[in-house]
Amino acid sequence: MPATIMIRYGEIALKGKNRSQFEQQLQKNLKEAVKAYQGTVEKIQGRFLVRAPEEYRDLTMMRLSKVFGVVSVSSVKETSLEMEAIKRAALKMAGRISKGEKVFRIATRRANKNFPYPSPEVSKIVGAYLLDHFPDFSVNLDRPNFTLSIEISYNKAYLYLERIKGPGGLPVGISGKALLLLSGGIDSPVSGWLAMKRGLTLEGLHFHSFPFTSQRSQQKAIDLCRKLAEGGGNICLHMINMAEIQKELRAKCPEDLGIILLRRMMLRLAEKLSADRGLKALVTGESLGQVASQTLESMAVTETATDMLILRPLLGMDKKEIVDKAVQIETYEISIRPYEDCCTLFLPQNPVTKPKLEAVENHERKLDLKQLINEALQTLETVLVKRQTS
Ligand code: ATP
Ligand code: MG
Repeated sequence: MPATIMIRYGEIALKGKNRSQFEQQLQKNLKEAVKAYQGTVEKIQGRFLVRAPEEYRDLTMMRLSKVFGVVSVSSVKETSLEMEAIKRAALKMAGRISKGEKVFRIATRRANKNFPYPSPEVSKIVGAYLLDHFPDFSVNLDRPNFTLSIEISYNKAYLYLERIKGPGGLPVGISGKALLLLSGGIDSPVSGWLAMKRGLTLEGLHFHSFPFTSQRSQQKAIDLCRKLAEGGGNICLHMINMAEIQKELRAKCPEDLGIILLRRMMLRLAEKLSADRGLKALVTGESLGQVASQTLESMAVTETATDMLILRPLLGMDKKEIVDKAVQIETYEISIRPYEDCCTLFLPQNPVTKPKLEAVENHERKLDLKQLINEALQTLETVLVKRQTS
């Protein structure tokens, strides 16, 4: 018997065309997520069912619980719509409950209104049946030790004991494509995760300064993308070497504007890459007020380097909230590995917190921007980062 897993998604807010697009994209992403475990995906009323070989049940469940758009997943027992079959399945499931958890309730949801019994009636009948067979069981609707849930669908009934929470949000692919500026820090992966949660397909762009920074910074970006791929599928990661640009900035521009000037170069490169690849927005891990480069004035001066829309999903979050999220989505451990970020190279002692656009532009006139950008683009390397198969 294959394992059967039920997927719930946030259907309530979705209407008309949006809803069918959401469902189609989610089905595609679910299929992709369980492909490695020979899983198949079937649409039933307001739910998806995934079937996979029993030996892959747990791995399949874990994967599905990370896919954006999924509200929760349950390992279910599927039966026919005969009341006798439902009772027998309930008995089997309840029989597996450990001795300490004998206080229960039954929760029934009836999507199929043609089913002859209303939901409370189903709960009552099945509950009574369990009490008959397990004399030490008792019912408590408010504070049960376990809940046996029954869903009556059109052709089958489904029983389950547990729900594992998914990330919710929208399936990746539904909101277009954007470029995530991915450093090796804590913030940008969280930012990418939140952008994907709103249905954006991401490509990643990581700037390094090899040989001034070691190759570990690139490996980190790859590992972070692999984590992010668990929720939304494979990620194309681009890497560009900034060493020559940094040398030039240091030689020709004041140190205290170094970070702003470097960020502006990053944005120009990101814009160029986005144009080539049809990416419609940039996503950064900037928050407000964290560091000198993240004051309102710095951000305003930085972003005039590009006409592109810049999304900053972390703007409203405190550092602690960002760190908690990073732990939850398992990017934290990767982000805190020691490495040298290209931005910490040649880091000014006292960066300007309120830069003036005019001054910044005056310094940029001393540089051959076009050539610097073209040369940096020559160093572009692209890898397709796939989700890990365990
Ligand atoms: P993070 O934790 O993401 O590094 P941060 O708090 O260190 O962020 P900054 O160093 O000011 O913030 O960087 C702001 C944003 O600029 C980053 O979140 C990221 O989106 C982008 N960025 C910075 N450095 C790089 C880099 N080396 N490669 C790609 N993007 C970068
Ligand atoms: Mg950083």
